[in-house]
Amino acid sequence: MNIGFLTDVYGYRAPIHPESIKKYLSDVYLEKDIFNSLNYKESNQENVKIISKISDLDIVACVENIESKTIKDLKKGAVLIGIFDFEKIEEIKNLRPDIKVLSFFKLPRISRAQNLDALSSQANLLGYASVLRAAKETSDVVPMMTTAAGNIQPTKVLILGVGVAGLQAIATAKRLGARVWAFDIRKEAKDQVESLGAKFVEANTEAQDSVYAQEVSDEENQKIQEALKKQVLDSDIVLTFAQIPGKKAPVLIEKSTIKNMRENSVIIDLAAGTGGNCEGTEVNKVVQINNVKIVGETDILNTVKHAATKLYSENVRNLIELFIENSDDEIFVEMSS
Ligand code: NAD
Repeated sequence: MNIGFLTDVYGYRAPIHPESIKKYLSDVYLEKDIFNSLNYKESNQENVKIISKISDLDIVACVENIESKTIKDLKKGAVLIGIFDFEKIEEIKNLRPDIKVLSFFKLPRISRAQNLDALSSQANLLGYASVLRAAKETSDVVPMMTTAAGNIQPTKVLILGVGVAGLQAIATAKRLGARVWAFDIRKEAKDQVESLGAKFVEANTEAQDSVYAQEVSDEENQKIQEALKKQVLDSDIVLTFAQIPGKKAPVLIEKSTIKNMRENSVIIDLAAGTGGNCEGTEVNKVVQINNVKIVGETDILNTVKHAATKLYSENVRNLIELFIENSDDEIFVEMSS
């Protein structure tokens, strides 16, 4: 079975890391210059080959993107692996109904699949990287500082949406010395937030009791916005991660609230790519509303591209090993559905 790895078209990560190559028992086919954006030397390991024809490959792993031309060139019945969102899956399936698309977006969140869970590994790093980004954007310092000239109070951080990324963001902000508040619509998030030493913001709404959050009515969303308002206005940094898989992200902060925020506060809207959690967020831009900076960049993960590649590469390897062992496993039935 020929296993190939492609360069990330728009990003900096790779679906394979030099350290993972030796763990493959078979040859691995790499796109030429796959490690260029990562500054790794070309691998000279014995089992490495350079892809000459995409149609030679039985299994092809990508990061988030693959060009239409490449999809058309894939071998009949090939297996394509990547973190493809629902739109991309549709595009691939329309172009090539004969191939099997295994998207990490459809991986079941079960214990047995944890070492394949690329969404978690990448979200973890995103949570960390986005707090560092916020710390860079603010003109304040995050921890308390005691000096002969007086004291600086710790930064107040609010985190909205406490899945894997939000939880890591809480832990990172705490490590930097911030005072942290957080909110999520799911019931179980409260205990998780408190176990990390942050305070949970109560929204007086119907807390949901499922693994993934469901969409809420406009009326319910209005209640959440109202409940969060006081805490938003009392924060120096707000990081928003609230998402519902396959849907537009909920708006949690209105423009009227942003206009009343403290001057020089910072919002990092990590949901910018799916519509944004703040009114006024612009995708891949940093905008100012009344001296509040809103960062809508969608490539923050690229600031930790080495770690992201290392973890993603292992998720991909675990998936390929399991697939070779048993391609009928129910995990793959769900991933390709
Ligand atoms: P995600 O990136 O899909 O979403 C981020 C968070 O936004 C979620 O916690 C969601 O509840 C929250 N959210 C959605 N709408 C909201 C609203 N209106 N207001 C406030 N918050 C809102 O999240 P994720 O990191 O992929 O995690 C999703 C779920 O999967 C969580 O329950 C998590 O515990 C679970 N999970 C399970 C496993 C496992 O069992 N192996 C692994 C990872 C995640």
